[in-house]
Amino acid sequence: MGRITLDKVQKKFGDVEVIPPLDLTIEDGEFVVFVGPSGCGKSTLLRLIAGLEDVSSGEIRIDGTDATDLPPAKRGLAMVFQSYALYPHMSVRKNIAFPLKMAGLDEAERNKRVERAADVLNLTDYLDRRPGQLSGGQRQRVAIGRAIVREPAAFLFDEPLSNLDAALRVGMRLEISELHERLKTTMIYVTHDQVEAMTMADKIVVLRAGHIEQVGSPLELYHSPRNLFVAGFIGSPK
Ligand code: ADP
Ligand code: MG
Repeated sequence: MGRITLDKVQKKFGDVEVIPPLDLTIEDGEFVVFVGPSGCGKSTLLRLIAGLEDVSSGEIRIDGTDATDLPPAKRGLAMVFQSYALYPHMSVRKNIAFPLKMAGLDEAERNKRVERAADVLNLTDYLDRRPGQLSGGQRQRVAIGRAIVREPAAFLFDEPLSNLDAALRVGMRLEISELHERLKTTMIYVTHDQVEAMTMADKIVVLRAGHIEQVGSPLELYHSPRNLFVAGFIGSPK
């Protein structure tokens, strides 16, 4: 399950209101993309959902449970960090198993889950390598593997492809879409890249200065952008 509801969620840093009170519902199994220019609050919103930032007011519910005050580890969500967050001195197997070790799972269960994730991500032959011995795309898959093994209710991605070169980005974009098809787990994906938004999303949330300009499917936003800002961001003339 992975239904996430934000009810008047607001975030201030000191006196600065970065996210004015905002409502949003993400349905179980949806691939939702947050788009908007740099500084509009995409990462902050994702971090609020993950529990890496506290809300200033409002409520976050995950599958009907009030998660507003739960620490990140208790929310059942997995944040996919960029591949440079891997531990360089650990094997791929250990990198992927790391969150399971932290959670206290025994070695047999850890290995089972790591091997299942490696199979899904085509990393089976690379489990004994270190991150430095992998391509950029393989490293990003390891970062995703570290999230998959936790069997989360939702995956949260913050511009996971932004430090990959253009060709790799296209490949990884397809891989993440395929992963969503296979797992059918809720995914929230932050990007400032219109192409990623249009090709990956079931639902796009267009953010501007911390508020939601428009929510809709790629086709809805393309054919009926509410204003020039949305049109400009989605790439259709109006
Ligand atoms: P985006 O991910 O869309 O580029 P962010 O969520 O990172 O935007 O930032 C939104 C706004 O909040 C920016 O103005 C940024 O400077 C501010 N901000 C983010 N994190 C903090 C923080 N820890 N303290 C103060 N201001 C912050
Ligand atoms: Mg950001």
